[in-house]
Amino acid sequence: MTPIEIRIPAIGDFENVPVIEVHVSPGQELKRDDPIVTLESDKATMEVPAPEAGTVEAVHVKVGDRVSEGSLILTLAPVRADAEPALPTAALTEAPAPASAPQPSPAAVPKSDLHADVLVLGAGPGGYTAAFRAADLGKKVVLVERFPVLGGVCLNVGCIPSKALLHAAKVIDDAQGMSAHGLVFSRPKIDIDKLRSWKDGVVGKLVGGLAALAKKRKVVVLQGLGKFVSPHEFKVADGGGSEILVSFDTAIIAAGSEAVALPGMPVGDTRIIDSTDALEITDVPKRLLIIGAGIIGLEMATVYHALGSAVTVVEMMDQIIQEADRDIVAPLLKRIEKRYENIYLKTKVVKVEASSAGLVVHFEGGRAPATDTFDKILVAVGRKPNGHSIGADAAGVSVDEHGFIPVNGQMRTNVAHIFAVGDIVGQPMLAHKASHEAKVAAEVATGLKSAFDARVIPSVAYTDPEVAWAGLTEREARAKGVKIGKGVFPWAASGRSLSLGRDDGVTKVLFDAETHRIVGCGVVGINAGELIAEAALAIEMGADAIDIAHTIHPHPTLSETFGMAAEAFEGTITDLYAPKKQTA
Ligand SMILES: Cc1cc2nc3c(=O)[nH]c(=O)nc-3n(C[C@H](O)[C@H](O)[C@H](O)COP(=O)(O)OP(=O)(O)OC[C@H]3O[C@@H](n4cnc5c(N)ncnc54)[C@H](O)[C@@H]3O)c2cc1C
Repeated sequence: MTPIEIRIPAIGDFENVPVIEVHVSPGQELKRDDPIVTLESDKATMEVPAPEAGTVEAVHVKVGDRVSEGSLILTLAPVRADAEPALPTAALTEAPAPASAPQPSPAAVPKSDLHADVLVLGAGPGGYTAAFRAADLGKKVVLVERFPVLGGVCLNVGCIPSKALLHAAKVIDDAQGMSAHGLVFSRPKIDIDKLRSWKDGVVGKLVGGLAALAKKRKVVVLQGLGKFVSPHEFKVADGGGSEILVSFDTAIIAAGSEAVALPGMPVGDTRIIDSTDALEITDVPKRLLIIGAGIIGLEMATVYHALGSAVTVVEMMDQIIQEADRDIVAPLLKRIEKRYENIYLKTKVVKVEASSAGLVVHFEGGRAPATDTFDKILVAVGRKPNGHSIGADAAGVSVDEHGFIPVNGQMRTNVAHIFAVGDIVGQPMLAHKASHEAKVAAEVATGLKSAFDARVIPSVAYTDPEVAWAGLTEREARAKGVKIGKGVFPWAASGRSLSLGRDDGVTKVLFDAETHRIVGCGVVGINAGELIAEAALAIEMGADAIDIAHTIHPHPTLSETFGMAAEAFEGTITDLYAPKKQTA
């Protein structure tokens, strides 16, 4: 039989693309779709699959060679006619997908440069998780991300860099805190450049790891700004004038959110920053105003206060961290009131004027002065979803007036083959919610029977002390008319907390008044963010107060406070004097 020459198929606008891996050698038996070579352009990594089965006669490329559409890469001796059937010639010439994608069905836009079983938009925790899960389930996945690195907000400008800096802050604060107990350190010398590069290194390791994981799974990563152009087509523009059209069978939107800017601020003044700028720690301002006492604002306050800024926090509402119960945030408020320059609640910033001496801020309400002057202002008033900037209309996907995309319990949008996950589908905007939803979407898109049925999504503020909660808060229980009972354990009675030099914590567990099943938990104190996981598990498992109280917690640990709060509810606690009246 005549050997067939296998050439590089249509690969969009790419030319002279380097070969980064050759998967075959002479004599090797190939099945149809087995990878021949992997190409890597500045925008995508793609595999060229065998269009039909056969035995490799000669390989015409090596790693480092550059290839374009039509370049000869392989000579293949086809298998006998009674063996695996070759693809019809029409499919070879008409199907444009260069990579390991299957040939698009005639209904699914045959003029694309690439075809994906599953197209994923956005490479944050929602997007990369969805992409990896779908790839693990055997799908050909194209992942589109506008930035050159994977990881989205969380890894690059959110969860991870903030936690690295918060660790640095904790080391400074812990060292200072020990001076009251006879261990006096000199003031730390802070090398901002080194601190930043350590933080960047932490991020770099994680995003590098993601790139490797994507490659291992043969996920095609396209860098560029993307938008839907039809219910089965997605266009990616690299900003340099070239575009790739990707056709897809199903899509998962994970385009995330961005910081909300406050109107009425001086435009283009670099002294007004958002959380992304704040994480760059270009300097440590003498007087820093943080607008917004939510999780992000207070975490940044923790960092900058430790680095030496005099911090003022202003919040429109009457409580910091609105979503948590007032008693759970009280120990945090008490501590930061002593340490920060000012905390203004029920106060609005109505105007900011830029002057060479600083940013003159006009306040309204609360006990704030009419004006005060700051060196920098961090605006942390929330995040808005990116639903309006992805061409959702062209795909027929509904987006609400805020930019959120409504989804059902299977993460499906109103268009059955298009899913959405993460910040773009609603609150709480948290990475672990995004990744959980992503797995559901990828599994449903692959035909599995999955649904989002988690009972709770825990939240954590990595402040000092940390604040964490899961399930119902007392405020929500009251609003919903749920009858609850509670068990509270103050950390002033925790040996572990005291031995860490701190007595400012509380563990509060809420139980259904009738069934005694746990329905919620709030914790404030060191490592509250680690402790809340046990409460989340207990809620998911439907544990009741006795299950928790009878679970032996190691001593001395902070985790004991969870068991003891359950004992306090049951009236069996011996570490506090609060027994229920009991008959023997
Ligand atoms: C300072 C800060 C600290 C945080 N800390 C925590 C924390 O400790 N714990 C926690 O759980 N959460 C935290 N979060 C929230 C967390 O980062 C988000 O909930 C999470 O990143 C959401 O994931 P996502 O996949 O939905 O979206 P994102 O992470 O926002 O990713 C979306 C991606 O889509 C890309 N994209 C958007 N539109 C397009 C387009 N048209 N074309 C191509 N690409 C596009 C974006 O570039 C982005 O990379 C923090 C956020 C911030 C800002």
